[in-house]
Amino acid sequence: MRKTVIANWKMHYGPVKAGAWIRAFRRERLPKDLEIGVAVPFVSLAAARSSLGRAGVPYLGAQDAFWANEGAFTGEIGPAMLKEFALSFCLVGHSERRQHLGETDDMVAKKAISLQKNGIRPVICVGETDAQRKKGETLKVVRAQVAAVLSAGLKVDGAGSPIIAYEPVWAIGTGKACSGQDAKVVHEAIHDMLNKKFGKAASEIPVIYGGSVDARNVGEYLSTTHIDGVLVGSASLDPRAFGMLCRASLPA
Ligand code: PEP
Repeated sequence: MRKTVIANWKMHYGPVKAGAWIRAFRRERLPKDLEIGVAVPFVSLAAARSSLGRAGVPYLGAQDAFWANEGAFTGEIGPAMLKEFALSFCLVGHSERRQHLGETDDMVAKKAISLQKNGIRPVICVGETDAQRKKGETLKVVRAQVAAVLSAGLKVDGAGSPIIAYEPVWAIGTGKACSGQDAKVVHEAIHDMLNKKFGKAASEIPVIYGGSVDARNVGEYLSTTHIDGVLVGSASLDPRAFGMLCRASLPA
């Protein structure tokens, strides 16, 4: 499986600034064997759609989606609407949404399943808080989050096959990255669950790591067994830094 690197711009870059990021990123030399995607805010999807491909980024993603395709849900954006942008993937259950917007495992599962039905890969974010980690509950919490999407009917399904992103909440945006070895234990547990559920087909589901990844530590994650890629927030905001991170992702 080729390694995946996904940028998450979070709540940064409207269409004008998104265009400037993409123009700058076009100058970056990128490794051929890397699956690169960028998750942009809804308002920048059109701008990104028209130029991201020329910047060497094949995969365009959104950062959230509602579970219904349309209806009386003011302010929400449904997967069928996102499909019009020919999205490859969409994040769901990012810890910032769980934390600030009260997203539950049940909501995250409904979003993931609905994206799959529309042929968009859900990138399902899971991870423990600092308090849970300190109580030794990391595996219990992550397994429960993954079990919630599996029992809701997640499938391994071609274009809509999921990606699981292990993102320890305490490592997101803090500069306190989880060590490759600690992340490995959790990735292995997630892979085990996927293997039990899907058998051989589970090998199509990348399990990627997110949390303070940068150009200095990305090589450690991507050379660790069971880590199939990375989800990158802050270090993707500067196109040159993100280009450097992509080059540092694979051995020269
Ligand atoms: C993220 O937003 O998913 C993330 C991992 O952020 P950061 O890289 O800033 O920790």
